[in-house]
Amino acid sequence: MKWGFDRRTEALRAAIPWGVLVVALALSAAGWLALEHSRYVDARMQFDRRTGTAVATLRARIASYEQILRSGAARVASSSTLSKQEWHEFVDYLQLPERYPGIQAIGYAEVVSAADRPAHVQRMRSQGFADYGIRPPGVRDLSVVVVYNEPYTGSNAREVGVDMFAEPARRAAMERARDSADAAITGKIQLAGEAFRSPRDRQPGFIMYVPVFRDASRRAAKDDPGAISGYVLSPFRVHDLMRGILDEGVLQVLDMRIFDEPGESPDNELIDTRTAWRSTPPGPDPEFDRVVRFPMPGRTWTIHFVSRPAFDAALSQDRPWGVLAASVAASLVVFLLTRALVATLNRAHHLSMRDPLTGLFNRRYLEETMGREVPRARRAGEPMGLIVLDIDHFKRLNDSHGHDAGDFVLGRVGEMLRKGTREGDIACRFGGEEFAVILPGASLASARNRAEAIRATFEAAEFVFAGKKLGPMTLSAGISALQPDSGDWSQALQEADRALYTAKEAGRNRVLAVAAE
Ligand code: GH3
Ligand code: MG
Ligand code: MG
Repeated sequence: MKWGFDRRTEALRAAIPWGVLVVALALSAAGWLALEHSRYVDARMQFDRRTGTAVATLRARIASYEQILRSGAARVASSSTLSKQEWHEFVDYLQLPERYPGIQAIGYAEVVSAADRPAHVQRMRSQGFADYGIRPPGVRDLSVVVVYNEPYTGSNAREVGVDMFAEPARRAAMERARDSADAAITGKIQLAGEAFRSPRDRQPGFIMYVPVFRDASRRAAKDDPGAISGYVLSPFRVHDLMRGILDEGVLQVLDMRIFDEPGESPDNELIDTRTAWRSTPPGPDPEFDRVVRFPMPGRTWTIHFVSRPAFDAALSQDRPWGVLAASVAASLVVFLLTRALVATLNRAHHLSMRDPLTGLFNRRYLEETMGREVPRARRAGEPMGLIVLDIDHFKRLNDSHGHDAGDFVLGRVGEMLRKGTREGDIACRFGGEEFAVILPGASLASARNRAEAIRATFEAAEFVFAGKKLGPMTLSAGISALQPDSGDWSQALQEADRALYTAKEAGRNRVLAVAAE
């Protein structure tokens, strides 16, 4: 029997749930990726915000330190004489440890020419520095000597008497401060006090200088070394400075390396917060980083921010797996529902194509199939045989044995036709006790043989219903054949119908074709 049409449609329909599954999973994946991306963007924004805060805080602190040194310069410039005690009181008044924890000391260094040296030493000794002398020893044209350094304790006190102009890095910063008439810092240096610390505790440092002008108008001093009377200065230990500036919130999210001019190299590194006061285990590359050029007085620092391993880990650990699982589960549910729907559709289609009493195809199926079978036969150049059958005197059977007996016989005919047809044949119940068999590829002669075989089998069959024998039964058949080059199949069907009518007229229980004209 012919199943091809059903099979093809069903195979097409079977693909639908899988298509739905693929689309649903693709949407789930796309949604999840979008979610992941937005989480990443959020983290990036958080990181950028924190680096922005760190930069702004650092900028504000450096500006305020600069301002303090300026106020020191103003203090020096405002009186013609300045004693150690007055400088002590000034610095003490600033409350450095409480208000500006990054500042080690504020000092004043005086410009001393070679000619002024003896008077300078004399004056310092008379102020209570009994064994005062300028270090390093030797005669130089111009010296800039630390005269006061407060708080006057430990390494701060040891600085008094040091000629800072004798050291190239300090000298360069002072010259820049002088020439620009503004604050300037040294590059990365080791402060004098570091030598007294254990190597483990040493930190890079720098010194900030603000020039003090002899003249209140602070005219440019570029070509006039005598315009400057000295410098107010402050040494900074970089680790201590940064520790005082960066709060814990910032340090939980990011690490930073700061480099002096000209940029990122180990020699220029001022601090690496991963190792400065904590030890961060070396991990994979940080997820986020950002490089900022940071202007310092008279120099440019480079700050390279990177995200902390804990921050990166939070990003990869807090993935919304639940959302992914839920959308995959939803996709599977949609898949299962679609599959159930398709199965129902197939069943409905199946039922709509079949006659429930005989299990044969119905007329609707035949119409659908012929629409494709006829052109196929025409392309293949094959004829198509057609048999139309009608049970003889069926009404009588119904009348004498009842409608159920009639149904029983119809069921047996269905069985017979199903068994008697071959692969590719289409047997169907046309309606009532009328049947049709389509034989693709069969000529009129072989249609006749097949119809004759059916007729003989039916005549020979015994029908016993409810214990009663239903007398001899016969059927009549009309046959025709659709030639590959001829018209439409309904014409062939009419021919077979006419032949059937003729067979009935001629006495029933026979097979006839339309007589060739
Ligand atoms: P003929 O030899 O001329 O075909 O005589 P007939 O009695 O078979 O005549 P006709 O084809 O006109 O009658 C068909 C009868 O089949 C009419 C109807 O009562 C009966 N019939 C149609 N469908 C069914 C059915 O599904 N079940 C039963 N039991 N009878 C049916
Ligand atoms: Mg009949
Ligand atoms: Mg009939």
